[in-house]
Amino acid sequence: MSSESRRRWWWPLVAPLTALLVSSAPPGATPQAALVVPPPTPTWAPLPAQAEPPPSTRPSEDLDVPLVRVMLGDRLRSVRLSGDGLWWSGPDGRRHAVDGDARVVPDRGALRLGTQRLPSGTSFGGLDGSVRFSGRSYAGTIQLVVRGRGIMAVNHVDLEHYVAGVVAAETLGSWGSEVKRAQAVAARSYTLASLSRRGDRPYDLTVSSLVQLYKGKKVDAATRRAVESTRGVVLESRGRIVSAYYTSSCGGHTEPARGLAGGTAGVKGVADPWCARAPGGKWHVDLDPSAFGETLAGRGVAEGGPVTSLAVSRRTAAGQAAEVTAVVGGQAVQMKAKDLRFLVGPAQLRSTRFSIRRHGLGFRVEGTGFGHGSGLCQWGAHAQAAARRDWQRILGFYFPDARLRTLY
Ligand SMILES: [Zn+2]
Repeated sequence: MSSESRRRWWWPLVAPLTALLVSSAPPGATPQAALVVPPPTPTWAPLPAQAEPPPSTRPSEDLDVPLVRVMLGDRLRSVRLSGDGLWWSGPDGRRHAVDGDARVVPDRGALRLGTQRLPSGTSFGGLDGSVRFSGRSYAGTIQLVVRGRGIMAVNHVDLEHYVAGVVAAETLGSWGSEVKRAQAVAARSYTLASLSRRGDRPYDLTVSSLVQLYKGKKVDAATRRAVESTRGVVLESRGRIVSAYYTSSCGGHTEPARGLAGGTAGVKGVADPWCARAPGGKWHVDLDPSAFGETLAGRGVAEGGPVTSLAVSRRTAAGQAAEVTAVVGGQAVQMKAKDLRFLVGPAQLRSTRFSIRRHGLGFRVEGTGFGHGSGLCQWGAHAQAAARRDWQRILGFYFPDARLRTLY
């Protein structure tokens, strides 16, 4: 979802409008919410003016591997960290042992650990190269940055450990090594393309499922082997790293995605017969005309009363719905299809590859696929791997304009 769409008029409505739904009955197993991966620009919260924190201690000895800064939590009133031989390190880089667990609270622009006052930007690590935060273990270090009256926790982790954590969270354990390898290359490329947009923020990515999931260093052996076997490999097109999105299932055709600001290369759309049997790949949602009309009126874009007509009024070249038009009280209201998706709830209205027809007294939105539909189709990749295609061929299928390059 773009920042533009987030700023639209109904954005305060973050929670899915379950009242809108007469029924929502996608067949098959429910894919992980994790797999909803709308692409582009994460929307960063506006930041209060703060001094930039000092760079943290590099967690990896491997200087070739880029460092990724992943925001794990923000506006925290208290942070508890634990680890084997926990230490903290300030601006001078010297390590100081922590006796037991660390409970850190904000203290007038700085951090307080017990009776010690530490500067914003202090990093914490463990002697085994990992640290625990909020029930999960993270490779690398965790930097605590004072933001307003709270604390932001940022995991500084090398790219390979990060990609392993993402692949473990984004693929099912039962999936084979080839799809995990393909996923690793896509996640590595996407992440590096994101790093090229680094701004003044103290982090590069969040753990949100809106971008890519990351649950720390708990990674099974098969996933770790798959990631290691593609170490440093990225997708490149015309000399630039591809912002390689991935989507749970594309619904039959992937959607082209332009490169993001900062000059990352784009993604082409391809016809994909491989995800036809993805669980929940075909779905429908029934909308109640009165509830929908009330919702639009509540957003100030219609006078009220039931929606008398609802139709897709524009499609993308690759076939996704781009815009829908609702008629309320004789007045036509246009909205982006992806805004309708997030208005209804992205787990119910699973993609914008849909059509709309009258059904009973209401409207039935029928669609295929789950997610934004761009880049690597995860269920399609899984089916290709099951048909003995290797990871290079799978990536070549979804990114036909790109080639593989080993960066380190
Ligand atoms: Zn697909």
